[in-house]
Amino acid sequence: MVEFHQVAKRYPGGQIALEGVDLTLGRQEMAFLTGHSGAGKSTLLKLIGLIERPTHGQVIVNGKNLARIGRAGVPRYRQRVGLIFQDYNLLFDRTVFDNVALPLVIRGMRHADIVRRTRAALDTVGLLSHERKRPITLSGGEQQRVGIARAVVGRPHLILADEPTGNLDPALSAEIMRLFARLNQAGTSVLIATHDIALVESLGYRRVALDHGRVAA
Ligand code: ADP
Ligand code: ADP
Repeated sequence: MVEFHQVAKRYPGGQIALEGVDLTLGRQEMAFLTGHSGAGKSTLLKLIGLIERPTHGQVIVNGKNLARIGRAGVPRYRQRVGLIFQDYNLLFDRTVFDNVALPLVIRGMRHADIVRRTRAALDTVGLLSHERKRPITLSGGEQQRVGIARAVVGRPHLILADEPTGNLDPALSAEIMRLFARLNQAGTSVLIATHDIALVESLGYRRVALDHGRVAA
């Protein structure tokens, strides 16, 4: 699903975030990306999400070389990639339902399909009964699950999560990881960046360790 060939990323300020990265994430595989703060985890996810572009090398996603996708093609590409970040980026003046439905509304999907798909995504994360609430009234774990529902509502081939449990206690973190495992079992590739090595080791998925921008193990 994802291939990196000798990828390097140097930010405009001169900081080298990634260097000589070769990586493969299989179709329907779930793996973790670990490493200290500044190791390059977020940058690697941003290259896959087309939020950043590499300085050298190639990133191939679902058979497509991302270098061939121009600025105009990015929104369409992102429709099939579910991005989940630590700060949930929810709209607090909208309901849970409206937050999750937003990607489908932007796509111009028919209303009946939006309702059906949004309810299915809310059901997947166990929040169907909260659809009329505002995110501000929910717990941190519930807000994170709203973010996950919004990321999966478009049925992505690939889910990218950057420190998705960074603000959550161990029980909630384990619950979020079980949710990713279920989405993975349903056929979605999942790549999760985290510094929580204990959590990763308790789960038994493949772990890719980054160290100062290089794949260490
Ligand atoms: P991690 O997610 O593992 O903490 P990052 O990918 O965020 O690592 O950062 C890797 C390196 O790139 C760090 O040295 C960081 O300071 C630098 N960096 C990240 N984003 C930017 C940016 N937008 N501009 C300049 N340097 C950046
Ligand atoms: P259909 O259009 O085939 O009826 P639905 O949208 O009703 O599909 O969803 C079918 C099931 O898949 C539901 O249980 C839903 O929670 C689950 N689901 C929805 N989106 C995803 C996704 N991105 N990844 C995994 N499961 C999903």
